[in-house]
Amino acid sequence: MPELPEVEVVKRSLERKIQNLDIKKVIINETNLRYRINPNDFSKLKGLKIKKITRRSKFLLFHFKNSIIMLAHLGMTGKFFFVSQNNRKSKTSFYYNLNEKKDNIHNRVIFHFKGRQKLIYNDVRKFGFLKFYNEKNYNNSLHLKRLGPEPLSKNFNFKYFKHYIKNKNRPVKNLLMDQTFISGLGNIYANEILFSSKIKPIRKAKNLKDLEIKRMLKITKNVLKKSIMEGGSSVKNFSSLNGKKGSFQQKFNVYGKQGKNCSNADCKKRIIKIKISNRATFFCPACQKY
Ligand SMILES: [Zn+2]
Repeated sequence: MPELPEVEVVKRSLERKIQNLDIKKVIINETNLRYRINPNDFSKLKGLKIKKITRRSKFLLFHFKNSIIMLAHLGMTGKFFFVSQNNRKSKTSFYYNLNEKKDNIHNRVIFHFKGRQKLIYNDVRKFGFLKFYNEKNYNNSLHLKRLGPEPLSKNFNFKYFKHYIKNKNRPVKNLLMDQTFISGLGNIYANEILFSSKIKPIRKAKNLKDLEIKRMLKITKNVLKKSIMEGGSSVKNFSSLNGKKGSFQQKFNVYGKQGKNCSNADCKKRIIKIKISNRATFFCPACQKY
């Protein structure tokens, strides 16, 4: 499931590829996404320019002329593909590889631009969605209004963190995944951040010491920035013509690594897997003792 870095890279790719393009038409192959698509919303886009693309948490916002906003969430398996004038498909982020044969079955919505370029919304499991708002009301939408600060913003700081965890008994891992505390993290980055911070995932949030909070803040920002940077550079120029050369495997330290040796060179332990609130949780019992 794409989390903040994956979505941020989509946003940056789209800025480069489709910002300022005019919509010619939109073809809808499937109306049954997480929320049912109303084809009328899409027909209104005809002839409109995409003014800008922004991101909030794991959401993408397409700002069209006439104050129209399309809010996109990628759900579990949502992906945007860009198709160039000469029909070359390229990916917009690093969490998937292109598959010429299989992808076509799951192309749900296709935006055609003037000049024969296309943007495809592809979603195997259909948990993602495309919803419409306007410039005035989108911030009050159910999806955006209760979101906590962006982790890379100044609002996500020591004072905020310390105040928030007061009396919070829940495990620190759940805290990181709580979108009202910090927006954009999911299970993968929550596990990775706790590993790098050397904090045990079941630790009660309220018991974090000041130094640990400071370490977690710094590491959260660094882990996300690094992923955005590396992911972004892996996407550049990656089109279907480059084939396997551009395929990319995300590198995690603990996520999905149960039974594997801890990636810290001086550690002899193996990564273990437990469940917290029914979500797979990975950690090193030596490096994340407390
Ligand atoms: Zn270790």
